[in-house]
Amino acid sequence: MLDRFVLIFLVLVCPVTAWAARSITVDASFSYYRDRSEESIVEELKANNYRDIRLISGQPKLIKALKDAGFRVWYLTFMNGTYSTSGLPEGWDKWQMKLRKSGKPDGFTYLCFNNPEYREWKRTQIVSALTSDPYDGVDLVEPYFPSHPGPSSPLYGCMCDHCRDAFKKMYPDTTDLPDFSDSKSALFWKTDKALYEKWIGFRVSSVVSYLDAIVNGKDGIRQKLPKVKVATWSLGLDVADQIAKLREAEGLDAAAIVKRVKPDVHVIQTHWPDWTKANLSSKYPAKYKPVIDSIREVSPLLPLILQTDIGSLMDMRRSRSWLEEVEKRAKQAGFESVTSYEYSIGRYMYTESPRLVKKEILPDGVKLVFHKRLDSFTATNISNYTLNTGRVDYARSDGNIVRLSISGSEGEVEVTMSGISDDESRRLFHDKAACVIDDNTRTDLDAEQEEDSDFDDPF
Ligand SMILES: [Zn+2]
Repeated sequence: MLDRFVLIFLVLVCPVTAWAARSITVDASFSYYRDRSEESIVEELKANNYRDIRLISGQPKLIKALKDAGFRVWYLTFMNGTYSTSGLPEGWDKWQMKLRKSGKPDGFTYLCFNNPEYREWKRTQIVSALTSDPYDGVDLVEPYFPSHPGPSSPLYGCMCDHCRDAFKKMYPDTTDLPDFSDSKSALFWKTDKALYEKWIGFRVSSVVSYLDAIVNGKDGIRQKLPKVKVATWSLGLDVADQIAKLREAEGLDAAAIVKRVKPDVHVIQTHWPDWTKANLSSKYPAKYKPVIDSIREVSPLLPLILQTDIGSLMDMRRSRSWLEEVEKRAKQAGFESVTSYEYSIGRYMYTESPRLVKKEILPDGVKLVFHKRLDSFTATNISNYTLNTGRVDYARSDGNIVRLSISGSEGEVEVTMSGISDDESRRLFHDKAACVIDDNTRTDLDAEQEEDSDFDDPF
């Protein structure tokens, strides 16, 4: 009992502690979350010991189910464009960033936040999402200009008329933008270095003022939704002179953002040259120390979170032990916690057999909860279940949950299972066979595990 009082005291007195809940990003548009109940998604995230969900494409029923189960839920939104233009209003094509080379090779449509129409639309869209559903906070993700490693990237931008006008307004002594294509031009970025320095400063200032307008401006998040927590995002990149490189390539200066916008929490996102490494060391959080230190100078107590990717590419899928080590190293480096993209794509999804984490007695049978989604064909095959008493009339599967209807039983029902597998078809990649439950898994042997499974890490 004493421990509980101490914990409550710490949470009340040390607000920073409240950020330390284990966090994961969930992209509800992934196949893994479809064709199953919200209850089953909630049960699975709980069984995997997460309590803080950063949600992409969340639907009202899922948001409510997570909130009812005591999760903290964040609305995650991309600030410099979109993966799908289907929800944009007519005329959106005029919002597109003007990049050095045209096209969208990475499937992403960049939209320019120096365009007042896009900025206005984005603010309204965020406020509307936060008003419609009971989110605890908002993640303002990727509020930057493309792209690493700088002007040599074909994606480098933006050179639209709005950026051009805003640059000339900020620096009236200039005649034009730096030239990024003609190396013989007097304004070529490598030739007129003073002009290029101004351009870098302009890009940083554009990002900061954009975020400030969305968060603190008229009709912005703070004015409309003062209780919603705000997480600003920037990048970390393991290169020499990291802060200067991020300012130059993306216009990102974490300290400048934090100082002006005053978020409730700041997330340092692992940049793609780092997360795409197949052998990225789990010690890498320490590499972002320069960014952490720069933020600490302007906001010593601001909670910081590290974002990492655990499986967007086939050869860099991360194991549970890798993620646990990153979480440990991140804390040592000064982060409160880690959030990963994305729950359903980690290496564990391809290697772990479904494990029973909970058994509940129902009026007409039992409910079995597993730590991952099951293949419904094997999970509903009643010959895969043997009882100590009575018989299984039928089995219904729902994501990671199976409900057995049982008749003729006497006393406590115990179930022995074999032949049930996870759902290979719901994975991002299909290079590994389905994982089958351990032979003769018995519910009565899991009594102790069941006690612990709700709130402690069962792994
Ligand atoms: Zn622009």
